[in-house]
Amino acid sequence: MEQTYFKKNDVVTITIEDMGSDGEGVGKCQGYPVFVKDAIIGDVAEVKIVKAKKNYAYGRLEKVLKPSSFRVEPKCPFHRQCGGCQIQAMSYEKQLEWKENKIKNNLQRIGGLSGELLDRIMEPIIGMEEPYHYRNKAQYPIGTDKNGKPVAGFYAGRTHSIVANTDCCLGPKENKNILEFILAFMEKHAIPAYDEKNGKGLVRHVLIRTGFATGEIMVCLVINGKTFPKSREFADGLLGLTLEGEKRIVSISVSPNMRNTNVIMGDRAETLWGKPYIEDYIGEIKFRISPLSFYQVNPVQTEKLYRLALEYAGLTGKETVWDLYCGIGTISLFLAKKAKQVYGVEIVPQAIRDAKENAKINQIENAEFFVGKAEEVLPAKFEEERIYADVIVVDPPRKGCDEACLNTMVRMKPERIVYVSCDSATLARDLKYLGENGYEVVRGRGVDQFGHSGHVETVVLMSKAK
Ligand code: SAH
Repeated sequence: MEQTYFKKNDVVTITIEDMGSDGEGVGKCQGYPVFVKDAIIGDVAEVKIVKAKKNYAYGRLEKVLKPSSFRVEPKCPFHRQCGGCQIQAMSYEKQLEWKENKIKNNLQRIGGLSGELLDRIMEPIIGMEEPYHYRNKAQYPIGTDKNGKPVAGFYAGRTHSIVANTDCCLGPKENKNILEFILAFMEKHAIPAYDEKNGKGLVRHVLIRTGFATGEIMVCLVINGKTFPKSREFADGLLGLTLEGEKRIVSISVSPNMRNTNVIMGDRAETLWGKPYIEDYIGEIKFRISPLSFYQVNPVQTEKLYRLALEYAGLTGKETVWDLYCGIGTISLFLAKKAKQVYGVEIVPQAIRDAKENAKINQIENAEFFVGKAEEVLPAKFEEERIYADVIVVDPPRKGCDEACLNTMVRMKPERIVYVSCDSATLARDLKYLGENGYEVVRGRGVDQFGHSGHVETVVLMSKAK
């Protein structure tokens, strides 16, 4: 007899028992896993099958029949449409517990580490004290609503339609004032929003960045043109806004982007008023952030992450340290104060320029930076110059480290390797390689940088096996 599988548009009742790597609920129906966005562990839900595959299906949450005890009232009315937050309807404590388990499961399943070892060495995840308003950077797409009025908001998950919302609860509260002023200004002067379908219109995105430690705010308009009309009146209006506490706008700019592309920013930014950058601090290190530069988006948790990496690095002032995937040199500069010498490697040339500049404004002279792929720069330097490391820190993108990079790290025989990771699955894969090549995991800890999303950072310390 042929087995009956569910098919598209079937409506089924499912108990959500687990969550997938992006924070989607997972339940079983006729023995097959069904992935349900917006469903939470513990929900009993009515689910409509939207895509039925051979061994699993995707469903849409139609109705929560019996809510999970971990359900909370989400702050944002748009959390289901918007692509930004996947698990806002789950209590923050449960989010942390889930992230912690996700790390452990990956290290066990992919990394081959024993549960007993993990229970012994994993320290409790570092969560946020305030899991809202933590982001220092937001890029709002600008569009036009059906009445022809300009709107700002966020892209609905996986689409380019804008969910109008000037009050995202992950960003600073005053962004709402700033955005509403910009929209009113566009309306008053009939400045059209960009329309990506026909390439017409002017304003594409608004970028707002805030230095949490300094209160400095940058506003940058991404425009489909070379100039912005009435820019003097625009700047005066922005500067006249009343903002909370010590916050103040110190940099207003435009970034021309005339291409038909998903890339948000243009190639350059032109200052309309004020400085071409804002400044901020992570710990005692000062950073100069221009509209185009990369900077960590959650500075409060980033400081905790870097302090942990620094602690794991165990520096006494005598060490030579390599910081691979160094970005604008944030970790390198953090380590430099406690090391003899730090070398950073990063693939993006502009980031290395920023790293050098950041070293200079902090009077740090024992940090040197190289542009290139870690998996090319490190082996080349090792073959040619027999470079040396007491400690190697890596902080790669989601795909993890290239094997050529790991291989060179092992051959350099550092005492310690500190692995900072934004994807515990690739972390686990790389730990396995390092484990098979003479290193053992000594400590590990999750740090939540992105509350309400499915992401979590992990820091792991490995030591040369005795
Ligand atoms: N450590 C930095 C940045 C980490 S993000 C910080 O904390 O801010 C990862 C960085 O790796 C990015 O800056 C990215 O540009 C860089 N990168 C990506 N692939 C790389 C490669 N193959 N070699 C070197 N750097 C790379």
